[in-house]
Amino acid sequence: MLEGSCLCGAVTFSVAEPLHAPDGCHCTACRKHSGHYFVSADVPKTALTVRGDDKITWFQSSPKVRRGFCAVCGSSLFWDPIERDWIGVAMGAFDTPTGIKIAVHVYTDEKADYYDIGDDAPKFETVPPRPV
Ligand SMILES: [Zn+2]
Repeated sequence: MLEGSCLCGAVTFSVAEPLHAPDGCHCTACRKHSGHYFVSADVPKTALTVRGDDKITWFQSSPKVRRGFCAVCGSSLFWDPIERDWIGVAMGAFDTPTGIKIAVHVYTDEKADYYDIGDDAPKFETVPPRPV
């Protein structure tokens, strides 16, 4: 069982199965929401248990996507494609070791200029064809 939490601990969560390799999204919306680029793993919604979900504020960032953050401390936690059966969980919020590395970088055409991508994971200007 993998465990995670926001900075203040008002929201905690568990993931009941091994994580899929995460992606790093460099799009403008992810950068603004997270403060840098957003690295998340896609988790089946049935495998995610959230405690303190009354402390999550959801921001609808596009017609089919909402982003969840802790209303107390502001930690970016979730990227939710509302109509899908999975949810992106922020890798930075895990408290337990994850055992995986970033598998792919996406939307590098919107990357900011102050950093370079320093690993060998494949890079896509928008999104790669699924499955990643
Ligand atoms: Zn919090």
